Amino acid sequence: MNWRSNRPLGWQLGLGFTLLAGICAIATGVYLYQVREHLGSNYTAVVADVIRPQLHTVLLRSALEEFREHPQDSELIERFDNLLWRIPQHIEGVQFGLSKTSFTAADYEASLHRLERVRDKLPGLRQALGETAAGAPPDDLIQQGFAIENEMAQAYSRLSHLLHAEAAKQRIVMERLAFGIALLILVILLLVGCLMLVLVRLHHQHKKVLRLSLMDELTGLGNRRYMFNFTELLFEQSQRSGHPLSMALLDLDHFKRVNDDFGHPAGDQVLTVVAGALLSEVRKADVVARLGGEEFCVLMPETDTESAREVIERIRQRVESLSPQEFGVPVAVTVSLGLATVTRDDASFDHLYFRADQALYQAKIKGRNRVAVDGPMVQAPATP
Ligand code: GH3
Ligand code: MG
Ligand code: MG
Repeated sequence: MNWRSNRPLGWQLGLGFTLLAGICAIATGVYLYQVREHLGSNYTAVVADVIRPQLHTVLLRSALEEFREHPQDSELIERFDNLLWRIPQHIEGVQFGLSKTSFTAADYEASLHRLERVRDKLPGLRQALGETAAGAPPDDLIQQGFAIENEMAQAYSRLSHLLHAEAAKQRIVMERLAFGIALLILVILLLVGCLMLVLVRLHHQHKKVLRLSLMDELTGLGNRRYMFNFTELLFEQSQRSGHPLSMALLDLDHFKRVNDDFGHPAGDQVLTVVAGALLSEVRKADVVARLGGEEFCVLMPETDTESAREVIERIRQRVESLSPQEFGVPVAVTVSLGLATVTRDDASFDHLYFRADQALYQAKIKGRNRVAVDGPMVQAPATP
């Protein structure tokens, strides 16, 4: 499994998250659309339109009460006339306010009929007021006045109940809406959290897979793929800058015998010890890899032939000096190394590799346990 195969999973998760978030958003949208009528209505204005005439009705009643005591009081007559004059305005205000709400006509039809009746009776009441002002007894005025006041009180009281019931419904709708939005936010946060967790896990897995794909399991060194990740870049840099780049190939001598005589696990142990020795003799900037079997490679940037030769000679001596106890097998283990340094004639890294391999071959045919540089320059054999 590599990162490429993980990517569709990431896309699927992203798509799944988007779909879920979309479904939640659509559900909220549908709910909002349904409650839009409730939320959109201006009930506050209607409440004012109903409360004002309710108070007016109370004033009308108290004026009528006073008429009993002072039927000829001109100031009272004027006040009463003023009160009557405002009644049609209030009715119109209530009618207009109700038309702006989501109530159906059936909800307030009965109340409006009462108010219509009030409006129809107003001219008669005004006439009675005029007669009372002219000196007639106030009985007719009081009787008609209370009839109108009664109709108004009942009409506005019913409207007031209707508004209270609607306000209660609106409150429930608002509570549900707030709960729905809080739930939606929670779901989205949870989804984002889950998505982040999964992405972090995928990222870690990807890093692990990448590391494993570039690592040699036995020795912990980089593998052939790991080395080739660097070769193009290092080779190009060296060609462009003119700075040297050296490459050494290392091969264990007669390693097959170790396997044959002491078994494969013992051979593995030897490979691990050699890898450790190799690693301990190079710089951090050098690239060390196990290319396969018992063959290793060291890429040494900014290192000319002489310096590189010193390094690989150190490696050879280090392996040679390791005791059988350290290897875990009762034989001496040696290595041969071939070295090549980039020249202007190297058209590609493959050519450099080829020359290092040639040098290694030279080291082998010259007797092993030695280093050889770039083909013809083979170092003198080490002391047997
Ligand atoms: P030479 O000096 O010419 O290199 O001789 P050699 O025996 O080292 O070379 P040869 O190529 O004949 O043998 C290499 C051996 O390395 C053969 C194979 O069994 C062994 N080998 C390759 N990979 C591994 C491994 O991962 N573990 C072990 N234990 N042995 C391995
Ligand atoms: Mg070998
Ligand atoms: Mg070999």
